This record gives sequence, structure tokens and C-alpha cells, in this order.
Amino acid sequence: MRKNILALIGFLSIVSGTQDFDAVEIKTTKLSDSIYMLEGSGGNIGVCIGEDGTFIVDDQFAPLTKKIMEAIAKLTPKPVQFVINTHWHHDHTDGNENFGKAGAFIVSHENSRDRMTGDQFIALFGRQMKAYPKEALPKITFQKSISFHYNAETINIFHVDRAHTDGDAIVHFVESNILHMGDVFVRYVFPFIDQPNGGNITGLIRTLDKATELADGETKIIPGHGPLSTKKELLDFREILTTIRDRVNVQIKAGKTLEQIIASNPTRGYEGNSSVSKEQFVKIVYDSLNTPK
Ligand SMILES: [Zn+2]
Repeated sequence: MRKNILALIGFLSIVSGTQDFDAVEIKTTKLSDSIYMLEGSGGNIGVCIGEDGTFIVDDQFAPLTKKIMEAIAKLTPKPVQFVINTHWHHDHTDGNENFGKAGAFIVSHENSRDRMTGDQFIALFGRQMKAYPKEALPKITFQKSISFHYNAETINIFHVDRAHTDGDAIVHFVESNILHMGDVFVRYVFPFIDQPNGGNITGLIRTLDKATELADGETKIIPGHGPLSTKKELLDFREILTTIRDRVNVQIKAGKTLEQIIASNPTRGYEGNSSVSKEQFVKIVYDSLNTPK
């Protein structure tokens, strides 16, 4: 519970834009002989080390790059060669410019790169994101999937559907049996889905379905935000979202308005612990279901 509250505080401060980066410490957790999870502020980072070099998933906020590099240097002398962005939101990609300037190749879904080339606005939080400079942009993009054969690890990266945004990727470290989910899976309810920028509840559930196919009872799952998880927590999260989606969908088909649907309390049974209110979440679900893909 304490961890959830800490994650929530981090989430809220990201949303409000008030962050004391000097106070942030990077916590390193070993997940396998070659994979580590770093927690600081912003999206959780996955690190894959070995003889080829260093490969990371997401890079948090630019003021934390030095601390992140120091934490990685305690694990390996090899520099970061690849940075995978799970999506384009700033709390996962703000460090891109620093890592790009230091020589890393940044990799993302093509829609995420497109977003980073122009100014973006995240309406729910009133958050502006400026277009990224050249050094911060992915040099490598993919549409459906891309694989790395690196550090004795097969690393498969999938874009399943529009989910948390229009450019999400999930990362599967096959031999280590570890998944990094980006913000498709987070440890708070109700999750933020950036629907005005192409996110979609049904695509998000489809992406969770893909993860459940890849995972077994031993899989370690790194959520976009919150503590290291297992398949059980991922299935619980999927169950909540599917139940609410289905409750809203039935009422849309019956011709109900958004106001009528919110009044029917389709999130009943579930308590929110994020800065997305249940009314906001129901609207996201409603708008997703009313937006042709
Ligand atoms: Zn995000």
C-alpha cells in the first residue's frame, strides 16, 4: 500500500509539473542476471546489460539522466547503445536528448516518433509537450514489431494496437522471462488513457491480451508506473478495465448519453487511486467506443 501511495504521489507531481528532481533517488532491482529495473520519477526503466552493450527501456526526465547513468554504471561499464521508448509521453522520453547526445540510438513505434517531431497537448492534465530536437528523436522506428538479438537475449518489441496512446510498445525479454509494459499496464486505477491523442480502451485490452499470451506464472512484469508485478496483477487490471468497458458499451448500444452512463456508476466495485477520476475514466471509455479507429 505504501508503495502505491508513493507511486501515486509521483504520478500526481508529474501531472502537476511540480517536481524536485534533486530529491529523487534511483532504486535498482535485479530481475535476472542481465535485466534490472530502475525506479526514480516517471516511467519505470528496464535495463539489459551484457557483452554487447547496454539497452534500456524508457529514460524518465532529463534532470535525472545523470543519476540514471550513474545507477547503470554500477551494473556495467558499457554505455547505453539503445533506448526503447514505450510511447512518446514526456515522463518516459524526456531523457532522450541526453541519451541521444551521448550516442544512444533511440527506438520507438513510428507514431511515437511522429508525435515527438511536433508540439503535443495532453488535454486531461493541460500539459504541453514541445517538439523534440533532432538528438532526442528515434533513429529507428517500427510498425508492428522489431526484434533485437543482444546480450544473449532475444528482445521482441510489439505494437499491438492503439492503447495508452497511438504509439505504444511492449518489450519481451524472452530468455529472462520479463515483460516491460510501458503505460499499457500501471498499478493504479483508473489508468490514464490518452484518448484524444489516439489512445483506446479496446486496443489497450487487446495489448494486455498479448501480454497474457507471452507471460506465465514466473514472468516478472515491469509496469509503466508502480511496483514490479506478476501475471496475476496484470489479469486483475485487465478484468477491471474489461468490466467497465463492457458496462459502458451495453449502455451506448441502448442509446444512453454520457451523462446517463456516468450516473449509472459503471465503475462500481472499484476504487480509484489515481488522479484520473471515475467520471473522467468513464468519459475516456465512452469516447474510445465512439471513436472509429
Ligand atoms: Zn504515458
